[in-house]
Amino acid sequence: MHMFISDSHPRKRSLDLRHRLTNGFRKGLVADAGLIAHGRGECFDYLLGEKTCVQAARAEKAAAAALLSAENPVISVNGNAAAMVPRGLALLSKATWAKIEVNLFYRTPARERRIAAYLKKNGVKKVYGLSKKHRIPGLGSERANVDDPLWKADVVLLFLEDGDRTEAVKKMGKKVVVVDLNPLSRTARKADITIVDNIARAVPAMVRQARKLKGVGSKRLTRMVKAFDNKRNLKEMERLIRRG
Ligand code: ATP
Ligand code: MG
Repeated sequence: MHMFISDSHPRKRSLDLRHRLTNGFRKGLVADAGLIAHGRGECFDYLLGEKTCVQAARAEKAAAAALLSAENPVISVNGNAAAMVPRGLALLSKATWAKIEVNLFYRTPARERRIAAYLKKNGVKKVYGLSKKHRIPGLGSERANVDDPLWKADVVLLFLEDGDRTEAVKKMGKKVVVVDLNPLSRTARKADITIVDNIARAVPAMVRQARKLKGVGSKRLTRMVKAFDNKRNLKEMERLIRRG
């Protein structure tokens, strides 16, 4: 088992992520469909040179401002996010006072419990989502069930989310921030702030930005969020990928 995370070469970093994911799969944190989704992500990441571009950095800053200025910010965590950046999620939650709720697309209570335990082991104080008290309107099946924090949230951060669920969460009137390497996905297009970057870079970047913005007043934070133009940012990202 190789651990390359401290190595600076992008190829090695992406190999390390693959290890984290396949390990997560063996431990029952990651769904089989999560492995396939990661492969799609890697493909886009490759086209972006496996680095954070200026457009993504801009979105990460706006995302940190959105979480900090929210009244009830929530980070919705799935198996891939938990397996790849458990510590980063703990730090982000601490830096933004956002609650962490486990919400799976292919939901089983056992997998949710394993993910919650894994997050706690990595420094997350409290994990929500083990009791689902509400249903997102307009969505069928298990994936509609959520806990109190997501139900009440005004700003929600989502990772590798499906387009239907993103749309349903938006329809509830929430501000949606997503991390998705595919700028053309329905999720990327529906969100208020779309971060086209790898989770493994996006989460630490948001932690850094949130720490920098600590102490900034809520009026200025809100202005920063308003000034961010997601449509334009996405257009630029798409151009970047198409040009290669
Ligand atoms: P949509 O439902 O939004 O139209 P989709 O069905 O292609 O998109 P999903 O499986 O619902 O995609 O969500 C997975 C998304 O997450 C994909 O767009 C993929 O590129 C992206 N993704 C995968 N791995 C990562 C990663 N490590 N970091 C960021 N994004 C990722
Ligand atoms: Mg989908």
